[in-house]
This record gives sequence, structure tokens and C-alpha cells, in this order.
Amino acid sequence: MTTNPYGWLTKSLQTLRRANWHRQVQTIDGKGGATISVDGRVCRNFASNNYLGLAGDPRLAAAATAAIATYGTGSTGSRLLSGHRPIHRKLEQAIAQLKGTEDAIVFSSGYLANLGTLAALVDHRDLIVADQYNHSSLQMGARLSGATVVIYDHNNLDQLQHHLAEQRSQYRRCMIVTDSVFSMDGDLCPLPEILAIANQWDAMVMVDEAHGTGVLGETGGGAVEYLGCRQQTMVQAGTLSKALGSLGGYVTGSAELIDFLRNRTATWIYTTGLSPADAAAAKAAIAILSEEPERLTQLNKNATYLRQRLDKLPNIHLLPSESPIVCIQVKDAATVLALGQHLKQQGIFASAVRPPTVPTSRLRMTVMATHTQEDIERLVMAIASFTPNPLALPTS
Ligand SMILES: *Cc1c(COP(=O)(O)O)cnc(C)c1O
Repeated sequence: MTTNPYGWLTKSLQTLRRANWHRQVQTIDGKGGATISVDGRVCRNFASNNYLGLAGDPRLAAAATAAIATYGTGSTGSRLLSGHRPIHRKLEQAIAQLKGTEDAIVFSSGYLANLGTLAALVDHRDLIVADQYNHSSLQMGARLSGATVVIYDHNNLDQLQHHLAEQRSQYRRCMIVTDSVFSMDGDLCPLPEILAIANQWDAMVMVDEAHGTGVLGETGGGAVEYLGCRQQTMVQAGTLSKALGSLGGYVTGSAELIDFLRNRTATWIYTTGLSPADAAAAKAAIAILSEEPERLTQLNKNATYLRQRLDKLPNIHLLPSESPIVCIQVKDAATVLALGQHLKQQGIFASAVRPPTVPTSRLRMTVMATHTQEDIERLVMAIASFTPNPLALPTS
């Protein structure tokens, strides 16, 4: 009998299509700014993580080009062997300064930073207590670490307390893990309270600032700064690829933490160092963030404006948000896809996000500092003109 060991792929893809879960890439030409060309159509872009509009900034491009001229395109080795260049260190110092921490370490992506850091800091003798809506990289890192993982309902501090009271004493180390800004919702974690609970239970805290860095806080230091927690000890991770317009990830914290990670993090030790161009672009972005604080101000003004405008529309269920990530809940996957298509015809590019990425379908919009008020008005008008209404689930 001949069998096809790959035959299951056909069936699995059919299942995905039937559930409206099947996904495909969409080609965007040129730079990912406030206005883009998608499949040949010019759109206002509300689907980008380029919060400050820096990904297309000529100064980042110039810094990247200069780094390529000096160091070449590849860093040619792992950081501990032959892949470490002066630009890596300068970038790490700039990140530590932005965050007000002793030191920082840069990875090839935020995903790798989270995977490797969790696996380095805890193991099968330890406990991870994690928010239900944490980013995939934190969930996978928790699994990779081999620690016992207990999940608390999204931002539910009573449950967090309860899990710690029940389980903490059975384990050696404990790590509470959370996004600072939840990437598919836009709300924040209650960080001061989480830090206080962690203190009470002798637990470490790891917070993922992917959507906080360059977005929140007076200097763009992130939700940690915004929530007044800079003086406290924790593990902060994040990315260079969102507000900072480059590619790569980082972890920042005490000098000891970073020294330990340099010695123990497999996703840093056994991979090639971040490319000189990416490192230089990220460093240039951090400089611009402090030289041009008006970008940050405008970003948060735009985010507030969009939330206020959407809040006034009838039949819209706006998810709670304190960030430039703004979501409206939509009743099912088919409806959110139809809404996404409708917006595209109106020249608006926003993300129709469906399970399994999120538990409930939603339109996810991200605001940029470089959006004009007219851009935002066009978005709101396009949403308002979608039929069938109501979009929202009855709020239960
Ligand atoms: C995007 C993101 C990451 C991954 O960062 P990359 O640098 O893109 O790999 C990690 N955590 C969160 C919350 C994110 O949104």
C-alpha cells in the first residue's frame, strides 16, 4: 500500500479555509508609511507598527548605509565569537539609557529575545505565572523553559494572587510574565500592582515592551516609564522593529542580569549577531526619539483622537485601549473580513484579526505620529459606512 505522508496538509488547509482562518500575505510597495500602495491601490495605512514613522526616515537609512560601508552587511559570526562590532555595544548603551537601566543586550529579533530569556532564567524546577493574552513569543518561551506554566485570566490580579498563594512554595524561582501593552487589544497591564505582588511572593517579573517602547512614557521609555515603575527591578524585553523602525530585539535590566544572559541565552549565543545596518538604524531611531519629542506627542494625540471619534459611532464595541492600538470587536471572522475588504475599497488598510491569533474577531487599527487628522477622519467615515451594522457582539 502506498500512502502519502504529506496528504494531511491538503485536509488541514481545507479546514482552515472553511473556518475563514486561512491567511495570505499582502504585498505593500515602497516604504511602510502613513500612506502605502497595497496590491496597486493607494491606502491610508492603519496596520503598521511604524508608530513614529521612522522606518522610512532617511536618517535611519543613512545610518544603516554608513554601517554597511564600515562593517559590511553581515556580522559574520555569533556575538561571543566573531560577530561583535562597536555598533552593537553603542546600541545596547543607548537602549539602557532610554530605559534608565544598567545594561542591555540586543538579539536578532524580539521573538528570539523572549524565547531565549525565559529559557535562560527559569527551568523545570521553577514556576511561570503568565497573562492569558501574552504574545506568542512569551508563550513559546515559557514552554521552552520547561517551567510549570500557570495562566491567569487577562489582567486578573486576584487570579494572579491566587495562583501564587497555591503554587509558589512548591517551586524554586518564580517569574510573572506579561506584555506591557497587549498587542492585539491595546490595553496595558497593571504593572505597579504586578510588581507589588511579585515582591510579596519573591517572584521575578518579565515585561514585554514591544508596543510600549517609543510609544508610551514622557521620553518614549515605554509603559514602565508611563506607569512610574522605572526605579524597580525587573526584566524588560522589547523590539527594535516597531516604533524604532529597524529589526531586532532587546532585553534590559541590571548589569548582572545582562551578564548572565550573555552567558546563558541560547538564542543569543548560538545565532549570528544582529546585522550592523539594523543595529545602526535602531541607534539612529533612539537618537531621533529624544531629539524630536514632538513625534511622541503627536502619536499619542492621534491615538486619543481616533479613540474619541470611534467611541461616538453607534453600534461599535471599542475594546479598552490606552495606546495607539485601537480595536473594534466584530461578531465573526466572515464579518471582519468583509469589513477589511470594505475599508480597502475606501482606501483604508487595517487588519482583520481572527482566531486563532485572538479569541474573538476584531478590526485592529494602529495609529502613527505621521497620520494627519484627515487620515483619521477618513478611517472613521469608512467604518461608519460599513453595512451590515451592527458590527459589534451584543455586550455580555
Ligand atoms: C512584535 C512582538 C514581538 C516580537 O518582536 P519581533 O522583533 O518582531 O520579533 C514580541 N512581543 C510582542 C508583544 C510583540 O508585539
